Amino acid sequence: MLDRIRDDPPCHIRASPLLEAHAHNRLRQINTPSTGIVTNTRLTHGTPSALYARSPSRYWEDDAKVPVHAHATCKDIARQLVENEPGRNINVLLGGGRRHWIPMTEFDREERDQRGRRTDGRNLLDAWVHDKKTRDLHAEYVWNKAQFDGVDPRYTDYLLGIFGYSHLDFEVDRNKGPTGDPSLVEMTVKAIQILRKNPHGFFLMVEAGRLDHAHHYNMAARALDEVARLEEAVNAALKLTDASNTLLVVTADHSHTMTFGGASVPRGNPVLGFDKETSDLDGKPYTTLLYGNGPGYAHTTPTGRQDLTGFNTQDINFVQQAAVPRKYETHGGEDVPVYAYGPGAHLFSGTIEQTYIAHAIAHAACIAEDNNHAHRRGPEAGSPRSVGVERWLAGVDVDDSASPPTSLSLSPPPPGEGSLSRDRTPTPPEPRLNGGATFC
Ligand SMILES: [Zn+2]
Repeated sequence: MLDRIRDDPPCHIRASPLLEAHAHNRLRQINTPSTGIVTNTRLTHGTPSALYARSPSRYWEDDAKVPVHAHATCKDIARQLVENEPGRNINVLLGGGRRHWIPMTEFDREERDQRGRRTDGRNLLDAWVHDKKTRDLHAEYVWNKAQFDGVDPRYTDYLLGIFGYSHLDFEVDRNKGPTGDPSLVEMTVKAIQILRKNPHGFFLMVEAGRLDHAHHYNMAARALDEVARLEEAVNAALKLTDASNTLLVVTADHSHTMTFGGASVPRGNPVLGFDKETSDLDGKPYTTLLYGNGPGYAHTTPTGRQDLTGFNTQDINFVQQAAVPRKYETHGGEDVPVYAYGPGAHLFSGTIEQTYIAHAIAHAACIAEDNNHAHRRGPEAGSPRSVGVERWLAGVDVDDSASPPTSLSLSPPPPGEGSLSRDRTPTPPEPRLNGGATFC
């Protein structure tokens, strides 16, 4: 892989058409929506970095991972987020991964025995704060729940919250106290409260990335719990926005090898339990949820498949059985669903290539290269313009040793909240519903 990459022009790969188009509009001094990323993985991980970074490898999260021959022409992903367009102008960044932001000469402030991974001596956390201060922006950096809870969205236009040395904990393990971390839904709500102040709307990507990791461990109970946490975030987004002017997209970038089987599974049978029948070949019980590959192969013994009789298969740490041994389970290759709600939802139907999704969202949000479509058609045409795609909230998935699904959304700003105003006078953060302005 690296050999092939070595011949490629480093960092000439195009980032997401979404935020690239957004950055282009910004440079043209076109009024642009606010933007945000929420994830429970590292902010420099696969899914979030695709929104702002150009890199031949997703693993170049800090300079230590960038090959020497590429140093002169390619910044690592963390530096791109702090220094480059569109990263440096993303309003809300909430997630994990401090290790890629601090130098090897410094220890992490929470995991005191862990050093940063940067070899260039730079502290990008300080650099992010300095950049916003230099530009006289209302910005805050936080790294635990107490600080996060203290952020007043009315007075904050830029928020960087990095709550973990690496990924954030699974929800079932999360420290919910003041020294712990905010939940996915708490981060989603705070992000929307900050972003919706912009009268030109917002784009927000929310990633429930730990869901993917649970599958890689063949831990179905943890995976399902993370799905429930994603549902909480989506429900919160629906409550804070209006479907008349906010496009909400929920999807994943891939599936996993988990199967939902059983010859006799009556209604009410626990999804994390056993099939009502035992195997008609080895006579042993088997769980309804199984994996095609992964660490669950450890249930296979020299004398055959392990007999799980008496096991608590609903335990949060139970590992489902897998057919093929692997250290970590792989992704799956089948199609995944895309759910869309709000203006432009009609663009998402049938079987589509995954890269189409970003273009469709950019089109609906009027930030694409053909962003005059709304004006051409006029409001009566019922085009995405009336879409008022003023703010979004979108969610997408993760990746390898990373994770899956998430949500996106666009929606309009609450009246009177002003756009990134310097005015410290508190204004009610009530979202404006049914906004009808033209946003292209
Ligand atoms: Zn993955």
